[in-house]
Amino acid sequence: GQDIKQNIIMADAVRAVIPRRSPAAHKGMSGRVLVVAGSRGLSGAAAMAAEGALRAGAGLVTLAAPGSLQDVLAMKLTEVMTKPLAEIEAGSINREAVADIIRLSAGNDVLAIGPGVGREEETAAAVRETITTAECPIVIDADALNALAGNTKLLNECAALPVLTPHPGEMARLTGLSTESVNADRIAIARQAAAEWGSIVVVKGASTVVAFPDGEVYINTTGNAGMATGGTGDVLTGIIAGLIAQGLSSHDAAVAGVYIHGLAGDVAAQAGRIGMVATDLLKAVPAAMYGISS
Ligand code: AMP
Ligand code: MG
Repeated sequence: GQDIKQNIIMADAVRAVIPRRSPAAHKGMSGRVLVVAGSRGLSGAAAMAAEGALRAGAGLVTLAAPGSLQDVLAMKLTEVMTKPLAEIEAGSINREAVADIIRLSAGNDVLAIGPGVGREEETAAAVRETITTAECPIVIDADALNALAGNTKLLNECAALPVLTPHPGEMARLTGLSTESVNADRIAIARQAAAEWGSIVVVKGASTVVAFPDGEVYINTTGNAGMATGGTGDVLTGIIAGLIAQGLSSHDAAVAGVYIHGLAGDVAAQAGRIGMVATDLLKAVPAAMYGISS
């Protein structure tokens, strides 16, 4: 059969790539992340993605979101800079926002797009235009993935190898398969998609699969069922972007990101799995990274 490289993500491999900070570091050396996320009713998703990037160690994080969310996001996020974007009546970004996002992305090392961005058709079009125009590496999640359903060919237009982080339901929409068929054969489906879309494909869930266009596949062993709660995926998006900002390749950031994210879930679960929430996981990220690096 095929020559398949299938790996378990090992702590030593993550330790080898995890960001280290020189004693003389300043914030400009730890990388800049632009997050495009949120819409009316979904400000939390945007907040958690932005905080995920900070908790992974990014030096500066900017959250660009519909202008009507500006005040609430500025209140939620003490350490994050916020930028207002043009929006449609429904409270999600419109096409005019694209030029602003592209301008902002030029001053950042990585763009994370999708959490809570909304599914209105104009918003989806703005997301697609952003993904094909931005010059920096992109982490694509949630509604930005839904915007690509039926349009996965656009991924070949990305300037750098994009990282996609679908849960099985989003993977089903992207591939046109049922969620059951995705779950029945996640490894093969992730591998085929990564090759076809020229993308890094992270299919989430218990034992998250990370697949690369050359057929390489990694399986994650960290994490627990306490993470089956709203917002934990948004945190992962932020973590992967935060690692890319600190100089990890998209390859290493995807592999290390899912491992660190799961480990943060395991650290948080020490206080109890049931009733653990995504913001608990955020707070556990530094300890998880410290535990790996030392
Ligand atoms: P999302 O569905 O986008 O919010 O993402 C959920 C996140 O939680 C993903 O990173 C999943 O891998 C993780 N997760 C959810 N359920 C479990 C589970 N039972 N075991 C391990 N990780 C999980
Ligand atoms: Mg999600």
